[in-house]
Amino acid sequence: MPNLWDNAMVSAQTNLLDPNIWPLSATRTDAGEIAIAGVPVSELVAQYGSPLFVLDEADVRARAKAYHAAFNDSEVVTEVFYAGKAFMAGKVIKWIVDEGLNVDVCTAGELEVALRAGVAPERILFHGNNKSVSELERAVEVGVGRIVLDSFIEIERLANIASARGVTVQVLIRLTVGVEAHTHEFISTAHEDQKFGLSIASGAALEAARMVIESDSLSLLGLHSHIGSQIFDAQGFEIAAQRVFDTAVSIREDLDFTVSELNLGGGMGIAYLGEDDPLRVEQMAKALHEIVLKECERVQFPVPRLLVEPGRAIIGPAGITVYEVGTTKDVDVTDDLARRYVSVDGGMSDNIRTALYGAEYTVALASRNSSAELIDSRVVGKHCESGDIVIRDVRMFSDIGPGDLLAVAATGAYCRAMASNYNHMVRPAVVSVVDGKSELVLRRETIEDLLALDAGVN
Ligand SMILES: *Cc1c(COP(=O)(O)O)cnc(C)c1O
Repeated sequence: MPNLWDNAMVSAQTNLLDPNIWPLSATRTDAGEIAIAGVPVSELVAQYGSPLFVLDEADVRARAKAYHAAFNDSEVVTEVFYAGKAFMAGKVIKWIVDEGLNVDVCTAGELEVALRAGVAPERILFHGNNKSVSELERAVEVGVGRIVLDSFIEIERLANIASARGVTVQVLIRLTVGVEAHTHEFISTAHEDQKFGLSIASGAALEAARMVIESDSLSLLGLHSHIGSQIFDAQGFEIAAQRVFDTAVSIREDLDFTVSELNLGGGMGIAYLGEDDPLRVEQMAKALHEIVLKECERVQFPVPRLLVEPGRAIIGPAGITVYEVGTTKDVDVTDDLARRYVSVDGGMSDNIRTALYGAEYTVALASRNSSAELIDSRVVGKHCESGDIVIRDVRMFSDIGPGDLLAVAATGAYCRAMASNYNHMVRPAVVSVVDGKSELVLRRETIEDLLALDAGVN
């Protein structure tokens, strides 16, 4: 048991909102409620329902702008592509493109959102290990700026589609670089047992480059690597860049072709917890630029255009999820350990990351302050699944009960984007807030939306 002093400390901190974790405009009102851009969460829930995703528009814009500025502050010409899979909605794509970023998509659906949001096709990059014929046809038809090739079959497929239309498509080749990075760690191997990319070690990457160079309808811009997610420093990127440059040198030596672009992918990490310390964007940009210049020096290569693809780092910290507490239950885990289960009105259908990869989050009582003692708690959802956990272990105020609102921080990325209708739950609305005003980004589904798909009840 922690002593009272501990309790008081943590308790005081739990009402505070760590600016590294919460959206830029998150504050506590005089009444103790969390507000985003001046709008209290209870007002948002009254208007749009619960659970609710809330995005701080100014925060998303500031992050996009900061990426654009930091990555353009170098002799290494750099283009930043927002990885749309983190969260894709028309309004958000408009803000991000407005702030100077391009967009990376990996399915027909994501491509259509970007196009309808008005993104110029040449600012779109198309990824994926199994892009279908129709997806590639659509991409070529609208004139997507770059397609990242991921297999021999795809090289042929795309070459045929482009040649049938009499156009030349600009491509990059995705490499399997054998680096897997996460937080401050990375693993580096010569071979990698994964579905993405063309292996450097086996010679597949070089063979792919040969095929592209020989094709009349494909134009080889460069090479791509993506090494992981939630990466806190640049070491993994450095090893990956070395292997990409070595491949570029092989292509130059064996095929007499010099690539002009190098895409180091995304994965830039964010803080979910107080102790998380990812590099700031300026530091990451500087580190990546230095790596590129160092590699150019090492292998005597002309400085390529650099591409990066952050997703989480743009949208993650700008979003929160607001839930309403429905029930609580005290459980004796062992003779000396009790735990309170705090059940909310969402769960694994709006945030699968905890169940999927043991993700950890910061949660706060959102509808008021408290000075009650802190007790061991677990925030769980309402699904028929014991793994339906939002926050596994957290010290929470003992007076939390039905009707209280909880806010989970840094849920802008990979939460609504990965949401499901498990248990016929409707996916929550997403709203944005700026200057004291809220707007719908994605409306909440209704049970009628779900029933409309069901041939047995229509
Ligand atoms: C997922 C992914 C990204 C974005 O990753 P984040 O961790 O959200 O930055 C970028 N590029 C590729 C190829 C990806 O698969």
